[in-house]
Amino acid sequence: MGRLSGRGIEADLVNAPAKPIDGLMEVQSLKTHFAGRRGPAVRALDGVSFSLARNESLGVVGESGCGKTTLGRTIAGLYRPTAGSIRFHPDVAQRDCGQARAAPGRVQMVFQDPFGSFNQRMTAHQILAEPLRAAGERNGTDAIGRAVEAVGLGAAALKKYAHEFSGGQRQRLAIARAIVTRPALMIADEAVAALDVSVQAQILNLLADLKASYQVAYLFISHDLSVVEHVSDRIAVMYAGQIVELGPTANVVGMPRHPYTRALLSAVSGVKGSGALQADGEAPSPLAYPTGCRFHPRCSVAEARCSRDQPAERAFGPDHRAGCHLA
Ligand code: SF4
Repeated sequence: MGRLSGRGIEADLVNAPAKPIDGLMEVQSLKTHFAGRRGPAVRALDGVSFSLARNESLGVVGESGCGKTTLGRTIAGLYRPTAGSIRFHPDVAQRDCGQARAAPGRVQMVFQDPFGSFNQRMTAHQILAEPLRAAGERNGTDAIGRAVEAVGLGAAALKKYAHEFSGGQRQRLAIARAIVTRPALMIADEAVAALDVSVQAQILNLLADLKASYQVAYLFISHDLSVVEHVSDRIAVMYAGQIVELGPTANVVGMPRHPYTRALLSAVSGVKGSGALQADGEAPSPLAYPTGCRFHPRCSVAEARCSRDQPAERAFGPDHRAGCHLA
């Protein structure tokens, strides 16, 4: 996949300060904008900050177009950020770039449609050998054997081509391709969205097992809060290019502070009423976000100041935050 460039580069990952960090990754004020041909830039990701610990699973949830996929692809290095920084722990970072870029194989992605990302003329063995080669490992036979067993495919699968697998098996192969280099971070973008419910559950269980056995952290991106809830230690709720609420899963699901999170939850439970808010209307265009709180045109408890003043982020305990005037 080609690298896309944002317009008006204000900060460069390569030049980001190489300050040591305790956890796995720190993202600060990250923006990824895409230049419009004539009109304004698409502000897909518009100022996102969070940190990720080793072996932690952070769910990123929001509607289509909220910027969650752009966030994952920017962290994976597929998009160049317009501003802000991503810093990795020195164990994960590429040495000649300080902590600004992950070393080959240390951050891997799993996509919704693995079929499109497989070379149809390659066997599963060749597919798994590719990322190892890119990471500079010449003899990866043991790693390939471990990965294919870990995802439940078995050694016989290594001789098959992608079209010979079922949808669930192909996603297992995609996960094997991601873990074969023993990454510190796996970014799963709608990784179970195209699967049947029963297969979804199997893949989610597999990801939970791999988290323990491979000691990998996840950025688990999904539009479905009920899926994210099952695999995440913490949840970040995204709206209009920004994180509007972030906290431990139990807090975000049990005591949501932002009306948009409550709307997502009510959509999951199907319960509307008794304080449950609905997010009617369309998500805003990333070409022109509303003034003040970006959620105000759809928020049923909005006040006059909501269309004027951008809400500051407020903390609810040490690790839970939300940006709403009324939170
Ligand atoms: Fe709703 Fe206002 Fe809170 Fe935004 S700041 S979520 S419009 S109440």
